[in-house]
Amino acid sequence: MSLTSSNLWHIIHTMIAVCPKCDIGMFLLHFKEVEVDYCECCRGIWLDHGELKALIETTGSDAPDPFLRQLEQTGTPSPRSHCLCPRCDSKLHEFTVNKLVLNRCPRGHGLWFDADELQQLLTMFGASQTIAFLNDLFGTKPTTKTEETKP
Ligand SMILES: [Zn+2]
Ligand SMILES: [Zn+2]
Repeated sequence: MSLTSSNLWHIIHTMIAVCPKCDIGMFLLHFKEVEVDYCECCRGIWLDHGELKALIETTGSDAPDPFLRQLEQTGTPSPRSHCLCPRCDSKLHEFTVNKLVLNRCPRGHGLWFDADELQQLLTMFGASQTIAFLNDLFGTKPTTKTEETKP
């Protein structure tokens, strides 16, 4: 039995993504139709294009347009970052959302979040259900203060 080229493509396509920081294979976590690549070593998260919106919607939070537009902005190459896109090995570009520096693939494959950056981003936009879901998923207790002072 030999591999046909289409077999080979399938294998390559389903290969585990490599963490841009640690250069090791990441865990692929499935939630409904959303796939999240998670690095257990640095606790970073890779989201393919469109997966953030899907994740927010699937977990029952709102994804306001201004929020999503900020994530579509073009990044700039960073001289100090050596992170590579897990999909195409392009050097990730940086962009800023409310002082939070995030990384994106210049070819539009997706977004990279260092540990807790995704939670910080979601906090800015009040996607509390998504944060709760992520904390649950990764088994992390919220370390940041919870300022839920509802009457
Ligand atoms: Zn890592
Ligand atoms: Zn890429």
